[in-house]
Amino acid sequence: MQKIEETTASDTEKSQQRRLLLKMLAASPLGLVLPASNEAKAMSGLVKLPPIPENVLSPEAALERLMKGNERYVSNQSTPLNFKDERLDLVKGQNPFACILSCSDSRVSPEFCFDEQRGDLFVARVAGNYITTDFIATLEYAAAVLHVPLIMVLGHESCGAIQAAIDATDNYEQFPGHIQTIATALTPAVRAVRKAPDYVSSDRYFDIVKKNVVLNVEELRKQPPILSRLVDSKKLKIVGGVYHLKTGQVELIS
Ligand SMILES: [Zn+2]
Repeated sequence: MQKIEETTASDTEKSQQRRLLLKMLAASPLGLVLPASNEAKAMSGLVKLPPIPENVLSPEAALERLMKGNERYVSNQSTPLNFKDERLDLVKGQNPFACILSCSDSRVSPEFCFDEQRGDLFVARVAGNYITTDFIATLEYAAAVLHVPLIMVLGHESCGAIQAAIDATDNYEQFPGHIQTIATALTPAVRAVRKAPDYVSSDRYFDIVKKNVVLNVEELRKQPPILSRLVDSKKLKIVGGVYHLKTGQVELIS
């Protein structure tokens, strides 16, 4: 885990920091957030600048950037991958601008579907995209230590974990090994979307996918002590999305 520390910069580092700061200030229709007092400190070399200055964003700007990236992906206009340019910057550390709690499904790839590169997204994945203590700790680390301003819980169409939860809840199906743990964890979403005679099962299924995202977003927003405090002080935004397999579009639902 990265340790946050302040160092006294050498002349070369100071010069590099000034260049980065100018790049930051010149950049970005996306809304950089750097308090004026920190600008002055950064100019004098007292504050260590983040490895990717353009990733220092407000929660709203981070969400806008994420969704614009998804638009590029949907329209097949993704930025060509570049594995070289920022490699050295990322040796110094990381400052991703968004955190994604995604399903592990191989068809959902956060870096691809938001057209982002290494160092941009802090990604936690588990089949069924639900929170456990370990995942809350991971998200807390992203928000409190890395200062990530945005968390998105990302579900998707045709999620096998959701189907397992439906089978376990509605049909009392048992799964081998530890798989039952996933089915059980997703039960609240299944129970929250009741069966009805005129409820088409595929519609109910997708409503459960969405409900599972919404429930986990709500749980994260009120999660003490770190996430709830950051949400209340508007330093962190937590949203929910669903990935559509056919189009690649991420639909914001919460
Ligand atoms: Zn899934």
